[in-house]
Amino acid sequence: MKYIPEPFKIKMVEPIAMTSREERANILARAHYNMFGLPAESVYIDLLTDSGTGAMSDAQWAAVMRGDEAYSGGRSYMHLMDVAGSIFGYSYIQPVHQGRAAEKVLMPLLVSRPGQLVVANTFFDTTRAHVGLAGGRPVDNVCSEGLDSAKVAPFKGNMDVAGLEKLIAEHGDDIAAIVMTVTNNSVGGQPVSLQNMRETYEVAHKYAIPVCLDAARYAENAYFIHEREEGCQDRSLRDIVAEMFRYGDMFVMSAKKDAIVNMGGLLGVREDGELAEKVKSNVISFEGYLTYGGLAGRDLEALAVGLEEGLDMDWQRYRVGQIQYLGDQLEEAGVPFQSPVGGHAVFIDAGRMLPHLEWKQYPGHALATQLYLDAGIRSCDIGSYLMDRDPVTQEEQQAPFEFTRLAVPRRVYTQSHMDVVAEAVTKIAREPEKVPGYRITWEPPVLRHFTSRLEPIR
Ligand SMILES: *Cc1c(COP(=O)(O)O)cnc(C)c1O
Repeated sequence: MKYIPEPFKIKMVEPIAMTSREERANILARAHYNMFGLPAESVYIDLLTDSGTGAMSDAQWAAVMRGDEAYSGGRSYMHLMDVAGSIFGYSYIQPVHQGRAAEKVLMPLLVSRPGQLVVANTFFDTTRAHVGLAGGRPVDNVCSEGLDSAKVAPFKGNMDVAGLEKLIAEHGDDIAAIVMTVTNNSVGGQPVSLQNMRETYEVAHKYAIPVCLDAARYAENAYFIHEREEGCQDRSLRDIVAEMFRYGDMFVMSAKKDAIVNMGGLLGVREDGELAEKVKSNVISFEGYLTYGGLAGRDLEALAVGLEEGLDMDWQRYRVGQIQYLGDQLEEAGVPFQSPVGGHAVFIDAGRMLPHLEWKQYPGHALATQLYLDAGIRSCDIGSYLMDRDPVTQEEQQAPFEFTRLAVPRRVYTQSHMDVVAEAVTKIAREPEKVPGYRITWEPPVLRHFTSRLEPIR
């Protein structure tokens, strides 16, 4: 079979706009060449993110109608607690409005002194920002395979455990927490093995450092473990997820990814003790009362259903298969990408694809802009443009990679959309030197990629 067919049928459709190249050139200039500034209506295939962009199932929409909007102790909250408690096995679980809300609540409780380190297999950008806002210093410590886009390895998202021990030897008490991101979004949606999660947890435990899972893609990670890790082929995704969560003391989760809701998040603490009490107090101040956490009752209900749907084996086989199908076509065309492809996206190595551009000309962003201009496809930079400046020196920081990320929304686009994407990228790869670099003309102090203004270097 060329690809794994959709394990669903279509019950509702949304027309998408076709624009001309000339229209797109004008739209790009008006948006100051920022992908986040484009009106979504002018995008043909939107691969900006897989976050909150999925299509809910008929079961989720039916659940929306059952939402209980009681301020406190609602039935939908109880339903979500039953489902999340049984999947993740933590004794305190808190709904929040999205992943970064969980980070905002939790990070100040972990970083107790300014300048303390928080070490991750690689931080996602908002998680990195919240460590910084809490006064901590985020440190990335991914395994060496994760940093070589051409090298094929099964678990390129893993923590470098030896590197972690070295950091602990050097900094001791100054490490506030360890964050394990599954899948490791920033290095290409790459999975983390159970073995690596176990070893990391053992090291952390030995030195009494808490481990926080950043578990937005709990289900895709479990699927990769099912496919690739020795002895896991007969295990259910639910069983694998239960083991993954044993190697953490707490978790933050954007439910906009694998739980397939358009808005929502969770924060979990394994023991309902002192830390959980502090979480509750922050949540009431920032998010809302404990039994809704900034969400409507109908959102809680849809999330309860989505958490389970994410764990369906046929769904995950298709999901990961769709990304692989896109990757296979790019590979045939000789386009370099973080290989093997990740769970939610293909990360094109724009640094290698556009070797005439320096990192300070943002090759990942340059390719994203070209893809929109040529074909109406929206993607984004995961490279030096995304990296904020050094908070102390204000110098530009070079990212380990210059990626253009093609993130695929869940249950939204068909295989023929993937063909259109592959064709557009292949065309650019034939004449890469035609793609101009970019410079920033205005930027905010943090999370600059969302609102910066840019212009092409002619
Ligand atoms: C999306 C994401 C977040 C942040 O979640 P939001 O819901 O966008 O606030 C944090 N960590 C990872 C790994 C993510 O993918």
